[in-house]
Amino acid sequence: MLEHCVPWPADRAERYRRDGYWRGESLVRLLADAARTHGPKTALVGAGRRIGYAELEQEVRRLAAGFRDRGIGDGDRVVVQLPNTPDFVRVCFALFTIGARPVFSLPAHRDVEIRHLCELSGAVGYVSPGLLRGFDHAALARRIRSEVPTLRHLFVCGDDPSGTADDPVVPLSEVDGDPETGDPFPVLDPSDVAFFLLSGGTTALPKLIPRTHDDYTYQVRAAGSATALTERDVYLATLPVAFNFTWGCPGVVGTLRAGGTVVFAEDPTPETCFPLIAAERVTVTSVVPSVVQLWLEGAEWLTDDLSSLRTVQIGSAKLHRNIAEQIEPTFDCRLQQVFGMAEGLCTFTRDDDPAETVLATQGRPISPADEIRIVDEEGKELPAGEIGELLARGPYTLQGYYRAPEHNARAFTDDGFYRSGDLARLTDNGDLVIEGRIKDVIIRGGDKVSAAEVEGHLQALEGVARAAVVPVPDDFLGERTCACLVRAEGAEEMLLPELKRAMQARGLAEYKLPDRLVYLEELPLTGLGKTDKKALAALLRGETPAEAGAFVPARDRTG
Ligand code: AMP
Repeated sequence: MLEHCVPWPADRAERYRRDGYWRGESLVRLLADAARTHGPKTALVGAGRRIGYAELEQEVRRLAAGFRDRGIGDGDRVVVQLPNTPDFVRVCFALFTIGARPVFSLPAHRDVEIRHLCELSGAVGYVSPGLLRGFDHAALARRIRSEVPTLRHLFVCGDDPSGTADDPVVPLSEVDGDPETGDPFPVLDPSDVAFFLLSGGTTALPKLIPRTHDDYTYQVRAAGSATALTERDVYLATLPVAFNFTWGCPGVVGTLRAGGTVVFAEDPTPETCFPLIAAERVTVTSVVPSVVQLWLEGAEWLTDDLSSLRTVQIGSAKLHRNIAEQIEPTFDCRLQQVFGMAEGLCTFTRDDDPAETVLATQGRPISPADEIRIVDEEGKELPAGEIGELLARGPYTLQGYYRAPEHNARAFTDDGFYRSGDLARLTDNGDLVIEGRIKDVIIRGGDKVSAAEVEGHLQALEGVARAAVVPVPDDFLGERTCACLVRAEGAEEMLLPELKRAMQARGLAEYKLPDRLVYLEELPLTGLGKTDKKALAALLRGETPAEAGAFVPARDRTG
C-alpha cells in the first residue's frame, strides 16, 4: 500500500478476498479484458471521435509508453484536469498502466485547488486542458510549476495560447511511445492505490481519497449489477467525469467493464444532451437534481427522441419528491435514486423496488458486504426509523484519507467506520433516507463547497474582520452559499460582485464563490464561542431567534 494511505485491516481484507469481492483485478486488466472480448465495438464517443475497445487499449498503451519515456513511473502522482472527453479515459488508463496515480481534479478548479492538489500529492505531473471556457489552464500550469518543486511534467490537451518556443508545455498529442520496447510496464499490485478522488470536504483544504484497484473494480462491478448494466448499454457521461458518480457508479468504468459504449457530453444542458441521447441511443445516464430540472423543462419544448433511455440515475444531492414523480412519466424510463460519496458507500434504488421506495428513498447498499450504522451523538446505534449520523464501512469504503492522520482520527470510529457527516434514517425495509447533514458543507447543485475553505479565503480579504458561510435554500440548486461578514474597523462594505472578484483573484474555483452577501455587526456565537450557524441560518430565513437578539439584523449587500 502506498505510503500515507491507510490499508483495510488484514482480517477484513482477507474476508473481502475470500468472499469474492476483491478478485485481484486491476483497472488495466479490466480494460484489457474488455478489449479482448469486445475488440471492434465502440468504447468511447466524444470530441469528434469514436474509439473501439481494441483501439482504445492500443492508444492507452502507446500513451503509457510515452509517459514512461518522459520519466513518469511507478508510484508517481499526476494531477489530471480534463473535461468530458475520451482523453480523460486515455490519460487515466495510461497512467494506471505505468503504475502512476492520477489525482482527479475538476475543470472548474483554479490556482488554489491545483496548487493544493499538486502539493498534497507531491505530483510530478499535471495534465491540463489548455484553453477551456475562456480560461488558460496552460498558463496556470506554468504558474504552479514555479511554486511546486516536485512538478516537472506539464502536459496540455488543447490550445496553449500563452506557450512560447522556449517554454513549451508538452501537447498530449506528442506523448507517444512504443510499448514493446524500453522498460516493460510494471506488474501492478491490485491491492494498491490506483488513483485519488477529491473529497467533498469539510476541511479548509480538500482531502484526497485513495482508491485501490481491488476496491474500485469491485465498486463498478457491484454498481453495474445494481443498474443491470450490459454490453447493450450506452452511458452518457454528462456530469464532470472526475466525479465518482460519473466515473464509477457504474458510470464510465462500469460501462467499459460491461462492454457498453460511453458517450461524453461537454455540458449537462438539455440542448447538448438530448441530441446525443437521440443520436447515440443512450440507455443510462446520471445527473444531479438541478440538472434533471433543466431536462424536465427541456422535454417540454425540445423534440429529440429520448425513447432509448431506460434508466436515469439521480444523486449527489437531495431529490425532492415533486421532481422525482415527474421523471418516469416524462422520460418513459426508470428513475434510480443514488446516494453516493467519493469515500465509498453507494446506495441505489432498484428496478424491482415498489414505486414508493424509488420516489422516497435512496435505496439499499450496492454490496452485501457494506455495513451501515445510524448513530446518535454518543455513537450509540439507533433503531430503524430514527435519524442519526450515517456511518459506513465495507469493501470499497476508504479506511483513511491520504496524508491526514489527525483528520482520520476524527473521521473514523475505532472499528473503522467512516463518519459521513450525513443525517439519515433506515426504513423498515432497510432503505436509506438522507435527511440532512451535520457536516459544514454546502451542496450547491452537485458541487460540494466546504464552508471552512471559503471562510478561510473570506477572512483573508482586506476589510473583513470575521466571516462565516452558510447554505441558503434555493429552488434550483437546492442550496446556495451565503457569506456573512463583519467588516474590519474603518473598512467599507463590499457589494457581492466586488467580493466575488476579490475571491476570484485569489484563484478560487467559481462554484465556491458566494451567491449572497450580508453584513452583520457581529456573528452570533454558541456557548463554546464558535460561530452559531443555526442562528445565522435562521436570521437569513427572516426569523429572529432569541439567541440572535444580541446582534443587529443583517444588511444584504447581494445587490
Ligand atoms: P461526493 O463525495 O462529492 O460525491 O459527496 C458526497 C456527499 O453528497 C454525501 O456525503 C452527501 O452529503 C451528498 N449526497 C450524495 N448523494 C445524495 C443524495 N442522493 N441525497 C442527498 N445527499 C446526497
